[in-house]
Amino acid sequence: MADGDEGRREHPLARYLRPGTLPSSFCPGCGCGTVLNCLLRAVDRQKLDPAGIIMVTGIGCSSWIPSPMFRCDTLHTTHGRAVAFATGVKLMMPEKRVLIIAGDGDLAGIGGNHLVHAAHRNIDLGVMMVNNRIYGMTGGQCSPTTPSDLYTTTTPYGNLDQPVTASELMVSAGANYVARWTTFHVRQLSKAMEELMDGEGFRFLEIVSQCPTHFDKEEKRTAAEILDNYRDGSIPVAQVKEPYDGQAGSKLPVGVLADRKRHGYIRRLEAVEQKIREASP
Ligand code: SF4
Ligand code: MG
Repeated sequence: MADGDEGRREHPLARYLRPGTLPSSFCPGCGCGTVLNCLLRAVDRQKLDPAGIIMVTGIGCSSWIPSPMFRCDTLHTTHGRAVAFATGVKLMMPEKRVLIIAGDGDLAGIGGNHLVHAAHRNIDLGVMMVNNRIYGMTGGQCSPTTPSDLYTTTTPYGNLDQPVTASELMVSAGANYVARWTTFHVRQLSKAMEELMDGEGFRFLEIVSQCPTHFDKEEKRTAAEILDNYRDGSIPVAQVKEPYDGQAGSKLPVGVLADRKRHGYIRRLEAVEQKIREASP
């Protein structure tokens, strides 16, 4: 405690942060701080020992949420390879909770193949995809989730492509748990993080989050205006009539998209190992 700080109370979640990591490197108004806050509250409510958690990240602004800030074992890996690293960690240390935080560019773009097949194999990982719909850290390039026609630094005449709807993709790939919330829905988001950490198989949480520095520079919305937009522009998944297309004008379905109870990869692998032992002379 510094001189003059006598009598100041420490924030109850500060014990989960590595010393010296505040203030964070996030821009003012960035959603990454909200995601960190929701994560620490979820860990605290679940009374989890951080020593039992391994966080794996890719490259990008959201990957700085756990690494270096969260005081647990972290692997800050190469771009697009967080799921591949995490798969190896989980297979070697199945008793650990292995969680990933990375962005839309990292997970759905560069690492898209790893993401789809980890979901299809139902590998026991908890993946939080912070979807700001651009590559934020590198200056606001178009990502797989960027809405059509949006101007970015790499689409100066508007994005030609259709956006990937990552949560719907994870449902069809076979993930046990899939949910989507925004940084406006902080209570639901933190609760979904608990559900992500507390189950078997591949568990995916899409967090639609604001990058007020680089997203939609033509409109130049403040963080508060973007959060208003998340509030007014979202709809519970149960009320959705048409398939979600990921476009800017369409209502964003929020809530739990899938909650299946199928056996995860580790349990299936252990069953095979048991068969091999029984068959061995
Ligand atoms: Fe957040 Fe965007 Fe700044 Fe990255 S560039 S810290 S995503 S506001
Ligand atoms: Mg991004």
